[in-house]
Amino acid sequence: MRIWLSRPHMGGTEQDHVAEAFASNFIAPLGPQLDAFERKFEEYLGGGVHCAGLSSGSAALHLALHMQDLRPGDEVWVSSMTFAGGVFPILYEQATPVFFDLSPTSWTVDPDLLGEALADAAKGGRLPKAIVPTDLYGQSCDIAAIEPLAAQYGVRLIVDSAESAGARCGERMAGTGGDMAILSFNGNKIITTGGGGMLVSRDSKWIERARFLSTQARDPAPHYEHSVYGFNYRMGNVTAAIGIGQLDVLDQRVEQRRAIFQRYRDALGSYPGVTFMPEPNWSHSTRWLSVMTVDPAQAGITREDIRAGLLEHEIESRPMWKPMHTQPLFAGTRYFGSGFDERLFATGLCLPSDTSMSEVEQGEVIERIAAMFDRGHARS
Ligand SMILES: *Cc1c(COP(=O)(O)O)cnc(C)c1O
Repeated sequence: MRIWLSRPHMGGTEQDHVAEAFASNFIAPLGPQLDAFERKFEEYLGGGVHCAGLSSGSAALHLALHMQDLRPGDEVWVSSMTFAGGVFPILYEQATPVFFDLSPTSWTVDPDLLGEALADAAKGGRLPKAIVPTDLYGQSCDIAAIEPLAAQYGVRLIVDSAESAGARCGERMAGTGGDMAILSFNGNKIITTGGGGMLVSRDSKWIERARFLSTQARDPAPHYEHSVYGFNYRMGNVTAAIGIGQLDVLDQRVEQRRAIFQRYRDALGSYPGVTFMPEPNWSHSTRWLSVMTVDPAQAGITREDIRAGLLEHEIESRPMWKPMHTQPLFAGTRYFGSGFDERLFATGLCLPSDTSMSEVEQGEVIERIAAMFDRGHARS
């Protein structure tokens, strides 16, 4: 492969921070780099949040759910179009996921749909224990609309902001929403620590509890004393050192990803049957991945034709997340929606959004796609 969907992109100072960790021998789960990374992220996000560095975004979501004392049969309402890591932790806690469709105007959970479902569930006395809306491909969900709903029905709100570090919803940074939010620093995310995550909350009690649970739930005593079970989920100090350097370039990466998106839309957006992921006026997306949809009836080709055509030239692209309610694992699971997410999956393609891709390389991607559209129209 020559042109990639999204690769790690170091800013240049990461190794200095790693060297500092080595010099002080904090090659350990705890240390000054982890503390510094957490403080720096708290400052970056603003809004008085507290942060706990963890081993992954999935671990952060697992801890957030674990702290809700879920019982078998308790429901967690979650976006259907998401990555598995944003859903599997519900199963770790023996709870039942219920899947939700997206709004066509934001491609994030539809607050109207959520509001109707909550009203019905409240009537039936079957409210979910938690709602987990997903920020998709760099776009925050409509936090300003969803937070009041969660508050009205007294349902815990845990925002999956794994894909939206650096994004904004109005004046607020993605990752500051809900009772808690999670971030991911996996290798393909906009910034990476080579694997890592963060739990974020305005309420320090969740973060203190998460630190305790993520380090094997050790009660205060000189020996190892345990009254509840925990997890080995804490972020390592060396990993956090990479994160300190990456956070310095996050805003720059957002601008670069947005510029990549803009070039795709300018060059390809006027082909018949082509649309790009919307950005509502309340959103400032990072455009983590540039997503295009292709209606084969108008374009004369499918998103699979384009994906395969690009692959022939060693250019990586990828279908959107396959909605969870259509996964074999979740056959028969409840779903609220009209299948907008299924139509997105059928027509959507994530284009190379790698910030170390050159403009010349992106120009090649655009030319190859444009040529396929031209041939598609000639056929249709
Ligand atoms: C990446 C991702 C996760 C999981 O994060 P990891 O750090 O890979 O465990 C969860 N939810 C969504 C939406 C993601 O994209």
